[in-house]
Amino acid sequence: MPYPNRRDFLRQAPLFGVAGLAAGCATASNPEPEAVRPVVVSTWQHGQAANAAAWEVLTSGGRALDAAEAGVRVTEADPAVRTVGLGGRPDRDGVVTLDAALMDGSGRCGSVAALEGFVHPISVARRVMEVTPHVMLVGDGARDFALAEGFTPTELLLPETRREYQVWLRDNPGYRPPINVENHDTIGLLTLDRQGGLAAACTTSGAAYKYHGRVGDSPLIGAGLYVDGEVGAATATGWGEAVIRACGSFLVVELMRQGHLPAEACRLAVERVIAKNPDYREIQVGFIALDRYGRSGGYCIQDGFDYAVYSPSQANEMIVPPSKLGQHE
Ligand code: ASP
Repeated sequence: MPYPNRRDFLRQAPLFGVAGLAAGCATASNPEPEAVRPVVVSTWQHGQAANAAAWEVLTSGGRALDAAEAGVRVTEADPAVRTVGLGGRPDRDGVVTLDAALMDGSGRCGSVAALEGFVHPISVARRVMEVTPHVMLVGDGARDFALAEGFTPTELLLPETRREYQVWLRDNPGYRPPINVENHDTIGLLTLDRQGGLAAACTTSGAAYKYHGRVGDSPLIGAGLYVDGEVGAATATGWGEAVIRACGSFLVVELMRQGHLPAEACRLAVERVIAKNPDYREIQVGFIALDRYGRSGGYCIQDGFDYAVYSPSQANEMIVPPSKLGQHE
């Protein structure tokens, strides 16, 4: 559906119903929905453990950004998660390089990309935000910064992941990274605190066996995550190149600003990704979104994506969102 212009939007306003309120259109006869707080939403099964840590922070009165960072640090430190932090799969040269970013509702954000040798890139990203005049540091510069800030370097390539890599090397004489629906399960986590503050954090080892130096969507503000305190927050997972082409998370937030509920905003953003990626049947992309009223939703290209929601009415539940190509269409 093309975006309505302002006149059309007003004419169609009844069609947008309650969703229109997210764009700040509340009136006396159409009051704002009551906000549900706090809320944590995050991608994939490993999101449940991350949500639990974020929930702890939020229910103790903590702020959205602290909760988002605390949540994803759990996933970064979990050696069983092959797609984030410690234990993440390496690039095609056998080096684990990490991407991470975080943002709050005021627009403050920090990011690192292609960072080697630190378990918690999300905390390095936060430090970039807090102590430098920049948003993003990459590669050796990010590493030097992390060392100077006192982060402890760690070997991230675990023996089992190394063995898997060696099998991949043997079976892929073309040395070409796979483009498929598997092998990428970034943790993207969205928080709404009791005071109404919003934040997002996103951290990943990126696409398995990628080119050395490849940066995905996750550390890119607007692609892998985006937050606007007046609207909501969104994050992405899946084939990062496809998300970058659509500036995916920014798009989800802007669609919510136009009045779409989170699930519908995610669906429309996936449609945009599909329009820009002719190979969409071969890839997975999923979005999750949380608006400032605590409403959440998600959508993806293929079946197989799920996300976890922790709120006063949803006890860290796994949600299977509808998908474009799958049975939940
Ligand atoms: N989006 C990430 C990337 O392309 C991968 C993922 O979602 O796991 O780097």
